[in-house]
Amino acid sequence: MRLAVIGHPIAHSLSPRLHQSWLEAAGRFGRYEALDVTSDDLSELFARVRAGEYDGLNVTIPHKEAVIAFLDELDEPARQAGAVNTVYKRDGRLVGTNTDGSGFIDSLSGLTDFSGETLVIGAGGAARGIVAAWPNQRVTILNRTRKKAETLAAEFGCAVAAEPLDLSRFAHIIQTTSVGMDGTSTPLALTGISPGAVVCDIIYRPRETAFLREAKRNGAVTCDGVGMFVGQAARSFEYWTGVRPDVKAGKRLIEQLLEES
Ligand code: NAP
Repeated sequence: MRLAVIGHPIAHSLSPRLHQSWLEAAGRFGRYEALDVTSDDLSELFARVRAGEYDGLNVTIPHKEAVIAFLDELDEPARQAGAVNTVYKRDGRLVGTNTDGSGFIDSLSGLTDFSGETLVIGAGGAARGIVAAWPNQRVTILNRTRKKAETLAAEFGCAVAAEPLDLSRFAHIIQTTSVGMDGTSTPLALTGISPGAVVCDIIYRPRETAFLREAKRNGAVTCDGVGMFVGQAARSFEYWTGVRPDVKAGKRLIEQLLEES
């Protein structure tokens, strides 16, 4: 079995180590590669996939939307997300799916029963996947560009955040913007959150963002982006192999690799 993640740049991707460990644990002969692919290379790459060189792909920045043109079919999660992070083969056809949202939901298992109100900060690709997969519509969206929050909210029957925003009413606060990757900035001050609220940041480099530190100080139950990263990968792996991998072992591996990097 030959698999790959495609993106540009891709050198720092942790996906090869994770999937390789799962392939070995499943006793599958196989290789998972990281392919640095520009937009101009996509056509040639998909010709190679069709010719049987690869059995499946992960797709990351900046190709999640562009690959749609090279596929035969999109499933419902990919259609809803408007983006593809996983390509698999079914009856010789190339199918695109999106496991980001469902992988995130999986990662919350044991932390919440999903009841209560949810605040999603951000309205980009990751937010779209999460809102599409969230098990109810009690979701409020807050985004720097309000128009994008309105479009997303209208599509999925959610609300748009209004000022002043009372954070105490949210059982879940999910940070999906890229703000915080520098280790210091946060998209929103977490004043007045409900103690015991579940606060997630889907950034995993750094693992503990300033947003999560503030959430912890305010008594929240927190989760970082490693859970989503491993969750989406596990679902991709299942599409390709039919095997549910060991998510806990995968999480330990990624945490260790992040500590070393
Ligand atoms: P995206 O589609 O480009 O969306 C970016 C979002 O961040 C938009 O809502 C944007 O707001 C907001 N934003 C960017 N800069 C901002 C700023 N200075 N102030 C306020 N808001 C700002 O990106 P994405 O694909 O959704 O990814 C977002 C983050 O999620 C990235 O850090 C990515 O690494 C992470 N992610 C993690 C996982 C995982 O497995 N853990 C998976 C996917 C993504 P505007 O609409 O106003 O521009």
